[in-house]
Amino acid sequence: MHGRDRLYIAGDWQESTGSERIRVINPATEAVFAEVPAGTAADVDRAVTAAAEALPGWAATSPQDRSGYLRKIHQQLVSRAPEMAELITAELGMPLKMSQRIQAGLPAAVLESYIELLEGYEFSERIGNSLILKEPVGVVGAITPWNFPLHQLMIKVAAALAAGCTVVAKPSEQTPLNAFLLAEIIDGCGLPPGVFNLVSGYGPGAGEALACHSEVDMISFTGSTRAGKRVSVLAADSIKRVALELGGKSAAVVLDDAELPIAVKATVNNCFLNSGQTCSALTRMLVPEKSYHDAVKLALDVAQGFLPGNPLDSQTRLGPLISAEQRERVRSYIRQGVEEGAELLLGGEASPQGLPLGYYVQPTIFGKVRPEMSIAQEEIFGPVLSIISYQTEDDAIRIANDSRYGLGGAVWSASSDRAEQVARRMRTGQVDINGGRFNLLAPFGGYKQSGNGRELGRYGLEEFLELKALQL
Ligand code: NAD
Repeated sequence: MHGRDRLYIAGDWQESTGSERIRVINPATEAVFAEVPAGTAADVDRAVTAAAEALPGWAATSPQDRSGYLRKIHQQLVSRAPEMAELITAELGMPLKMSQRIQAGLPAAVLESYIELLEGYEFSERIGNSLILKEPVGVVGAITPWNFPLHQLMIKVAAALAAGCTVVAKPSEQTPLNAFLLAEIIDGCGLPPGVFNLVSGYGPGAGEALACHSEVDMISFTGSTRAGKRVSVLAADSIKRVALELGGKSAAVVLDDAELPIAVKATVNNCFLNSGQTCSALTRMLVPEKSYHDAVKLALDVAQGFLPGNPLDSQTRLGPLISAEQRERVRSYIRQGVEEGAELLLGGEASPQGLPLGYYVQPTIFGKVRPEMSIAQEEIFGPVLSIISYQTEDDAIRIANDSRYGLGGAVWSASSDRAEQVARRMRTGQVDINGGRFNLLAPFGGYKQSGNGRELGRYGLEEFLELKALQL
């Protein structure tokens, strides 16, 4: 059992004021393997006070000093990456090989990108007779989910610390252990006390206390649209800044001149990554009516490679879902898909064979999905792909935009100009053209109910800055 019995506050491992503990479950074995404190409002208050006290000193450091601290954290993250990957696989269930690259590797790369950005970023600018100062927004509350837990935390922590802000982190109650390892690393790097604080806890407890706290200047939240709305309401009382990264229902638009096998393979791989628990997952595949049957055949072929299995087995590409509750949610969407008349082409709500333990769901593909069906509208957060056929390009764009979300998307065409024209008409924060790679320096975030604000790179840094104009 991993012993993580204290919170990290003011540069010290402190007891929680409460006695409640959160049990951390390995979703592949259903075994409880760790416990962390369920932080209270009083714990949050102590952490916020520490962050507020540390703020003037940290805000006054030079970008070079801050980059020096971040570099030390980066070195430790890289050297402890194998341990981090194993920990995240144990608490989340992502296959270990992928965890090494994505769950441990990506956050280190994010941190490195902010170290590099700090070297050249101008924290002031002249506009006419004004000197514009870009100052840290202040104390940041970072609330994060479980699906890419360290990545989502690091995006916030790296940008906030680089900007000169201090942080109180409240990681997901389902996957808190990686955040404890990060706190241990930060503690070893000698940051001034209170610059980074960690309070584990539940959303309605520690999360709401952070969102309400009058000394928190900004909440940076990643999670469900439901909780994001609640955080916004609570934050409104003190007019704090709120950045939200929420859900998605992203569409891959395969145009009639696209290389179908490549487009379908990439879409299925993307949809099933992390067992479908990815906010920007391409969960709707839009194909021209004349290619529908070929697309179905190709999708089924690709899905064969996603046999659910033990995350520690190097062959496994599909691990369990995070929890029994999440599995039930996904199963109920699969049921609704069948009830609403979609064609179940693969998978279904039955447990995969040979896996009596673990929150597994079979890779599932629906055909003949109509845009108004629940499985085409709701974020399922499981390995479920909806294939929708369309008649014309305008039709495809209309269907792609027929969503209350607007996070990601993809367009496939033999002509990159044509794909770009279609991408320009999609109301989403990102669109990958012909498999364009994820770019750590490009702004990431959503239109519509997918959120407010952007993360990563320069735009992500600027979310944590206030502007002050001095007229000279
Ligand atoms: P969730 O909203 O239940 O929880 C996210 C975090 O918010 C957790 O730390 C939780 O404790 C906290 N929280 C919950 N209720 C709260 C409340 N009332 N007040 C304050 N904090 C509260 O989401 P989840 O189930 O952990 O994550 C899945 C969701 O996150 C999906 O909808 C997914 O699309 C979204 N997500 C979005 C992005 C993005 O960048 N847009 C990235 C990853 C996940």
